[in-house]
Amino acid sequence: MQKKKIAIVGAGFAGISACKVLCSSKEVEVDLIDRRNYHLFQPLLYQVAMAGLNPSDIAIPIRKLFSKNRNVNIILAEVNSVNVKNCEIQFDEKWNKYDYLILACGAKHFYFGNDHWEQFAPGLKNIEQATEIRRRVLTAFELAEKAMSKDEQKKLLTFAVIGGGPTGVELAGAISEMASKTLVKDYKNADLSEVRVLLIEAGDRILSAFPEKLSKQAENDLKSMGVEVKKNCRASNLDQNGFSINNEWIECKTILWAAGVRPSSLSKSIDSAKDSQERIIVEKDLSLAGHKNVFVLGDMACFQVNKHQSLPGIAPVAIQQGTFLGNQILAEIKGYSRKEFNYWDKGIMATIGRSKAVVSSNNMHISGLMAWLIWVFIHIVYLMRFKNKFFVFLQWLWSYFSFGQGARLIIHKSWQFYDGKKINYK
Ligand SMILES: Cc1cc2nc3c(=O)[nH]c(=O)nc-3n(C[C@H](O)[C@H](O)[C@H](O)COP(=O)(O)OP(=O)(O)OC[C@H]3O[C@@H](n4cnc5c(N)ncnc54)[C@H](O)[C@@H]3O)c2cc1C
Repeated sequence: MQKKKIAIVGAGFAGISACKVLCSSKEVEVDLIDRRNYHLFQPLLYQVAMAGLNPSDIAIPIRKLFSKNRNVNIILAEVNSVNVKNCEIQFDEKWNKYDYLILACGAKHFYFGNDHWEQFAPGLKNIEQATEIRRRVLTAFELAEKAMSKDEQKKLLTFAVIGGGPTGVELAGAISEMASKTLVKDYKNADLSEVRVLLIEAGDRILSAFPEKLSKQAENDLKSMGVEVKKNCRASNLDQNGFSINNEWIECKTILWAAGVRPSSLSKSIDSAKDSQERIIVEKDLSLAGHKNVFVLGDMACFQVNKHQSLPGIAPVAIQQGTFLGNQILAEIKGYSRKEFNYWDKGIMATIGRSKAVVSSNNMHISGLMAWLIWVFIHIVYLMRFKNKFFVFLQWLWSYFSFGQGARLIIHKSWQFYDGKKINYK
């Protein structure tokens, strides 16, 4: 029997999980295509942005993951287009055939129609952006150290994070802690007690996916760390000197974006029903409506649990969908009929700072040190290979007891390519 050709676009959580199942079968040949040569553990990206970890601690070469599997071809390329009628995808200026296609390209930032804000307020989705954020935050402290006036110093020491979801909360908490616990010892002229960290949220509470009690707890924790939480505030008019909220102008040199997300641009080449976030609505078996051999997973997909609820863009959803689909395809090749995907909801969590986190799992709502320990444990367990787990764990232990911030490197960069376009940073 001829081997089935399976193309997986995206080596994120969903793509890797599917490939890990498929690679065990002699009946399939897999092309795993990604525009990066590494798999990235996004949940710890903020630690790279905040100089707590190095990029290599949270990334692993895709080739290394499948070096023993002869039926997996790793292809470094950006897929530009999909033709589901002809069963072809385009990359490296060629059209390539597939029997099954798995689209798992993740998400990117969305600036609500103001794409030019990106240069003033980078988001956090990849290593380039994490190191750019690190550069901006550390540079602001350096410039504040030699600022000529109080006003200039104030502007440099004001940091704003836009978006009060888990990433925004993590970033705001981490900047505040870095300033008050770590950097305060190293700067002689800048008065770091003047550091102002603002967390801007358009809704009436932060961490809106969590139960209200935990949102409130997270807000109180942030406030106790010196973060100003501004709710019901929509940021606008962003530029290199600040932004406005509710008719007030905030002078600020460092703005970080953790607000809207949209699926990867590749979803535009798929003519299919989409939800309000432009995610592709998938069938119960994760396939694309009308195309039984095309599947969409993870952050790119909208899986509707019922009329009013769809699965969120989080790692466990992507991992479970990838594993389910890998098994489903292998079963189908053996002649079994398809099953529906069922998500096992183990809960959600967010970290706020040292010894502070919130965990919501079924009816269990935990906050404080216990939640933080659970958060650390889960993230270490999910880090992909032993070396990473071990080093990250050691680094965390070291940072916890020494208040040290190990990876404080300012690496200059004024532009980067992201999602096919060039972004100039100001
Ligand atoms: C900063 C941050 C913190 C997060 N924290 C948490 C957390 O604490 N807990 C949690 O559960 N979730 C968290 N998430 C969400 C979680 O990381 C995502 O839900 C998950 O990564 C989605 O997996 P995915 O496989 O769909 O996409 P991704 O993991 O994003 O992978 C997509 C892959 O596709 C590749 N790709 C994209 N377009 C193309 C193309 N055209 N051609 C080739 N390759 C392409 C990309 O390079 C990437 O490797 C966080 C996300 C971020 C950004």
